[in-house]
Amino acid sequence: MNQKVLEELVKKNKQYCCKGKNADYIPALAKINPNQLGITLYNIKTNETLSVGDSSVRFAIESISKVPALLLAIEDNGLSNVLKHINTEATGFAFNSPLNMEINHAKHPLNPFVNIGAIETTSLIKGNSSDECYRRLLTFIKEICHDNTISLNEEIYQSESKTGDINRSLAYYLKGNNMLSKDVEGVLEVYFKQCSLNVTTQNIAMMASVLANKGMKPWDNKRLISEESATLVKSVMTTAGLYDESGEFSAHVGIPGKSGVGGGLMGVAPNQFGLGIFSPPLDSSGNSLAGIKLLKDVVDELHLNIFD
Ligand code: GLU
Repeated sequence: MNQKVLEELVKKNKQYCCKGKNADYIPALAKINPNQLGITLYNIKTNETLSVGDSSVRFAIESISKVPALLLAIEDNGLSNVLKHINTEATGFAFNSPLNMEINHAKHPLNPFVNIGAIETTSLIKGNSSDECYRRLLTFIKEICHDNTISLNEEIYQSESKTGDINRSLAYYLKGNNMLSKDVEGVLEVYFKQCSLNVTTQNIAMMASVLANKGMKPWDNKRLISEESATLVKSVMTTAGLYDESGEFSAHVGIPGKSGVGGGLMGVAPNQFGLGIFSPPLDSSGNSLAGIKLLKDVVDELHLNIFD
């Protein structure tokens, strides 16, 4: 694919920006300009990057941070230990529903990408204080996104923290079920901060390219995470990366994906591309509406569907 074809696809899908709605349960997200669409493709074979549209705009990573948090928790504890705490089942419930745990007879969160599972995951990151856990996660995110300038969006963080009572209730629910051994407020501070990091589509494409490249950073050929962990995360992205819309996404787009309510969307085309997309207006499940349409067009154009 060349620049011109990608520009055409962005132009074609820009019309969908006005069909969705920015997340407004986090007030700072409601204020973001909705008329934005940007994409970056990172080709892991040639190490070439293609970017179009609002690809350098910084936006809140939100739930896409659940991917690096899971990767770091696995590095810290080993995969089998993490899987003693969190399952890898799909969900039919909203991302912030307590049913994502209650429905499961083993009393474990259904998966690491619904909020209750993500809070559990964050609690597994090692550190002597919540600040140390956050610093370690930030360092890891900078490395996997290949960008040392990634930093906290203070306004989003304050907004998340002030309005985060559902997440608070999920964390206390975990604690009440003996699933969370650390101080609840400390874990929530790390969780709210990880969601409030500013990233670009370029950052997201780099992270996706490490997963596409079986855990090796394609830009320097050094291993960052184990192949086992990259494989596990891609498979959970396939069944649970887009909340309760994951089945439809897999059926119609056909690559592992992870979305965030800030409008970000990560796509992984194994052994080929890392993809990052940004467009703030969301569909009813909380996923970037124009982002999904654009990703589908790119996947079709490049024949990336993993089920073909
Ligand atoms: N910070 C958001 C929350 O916990 C993340 C949700 C999302 O991106 O899906 O509600």
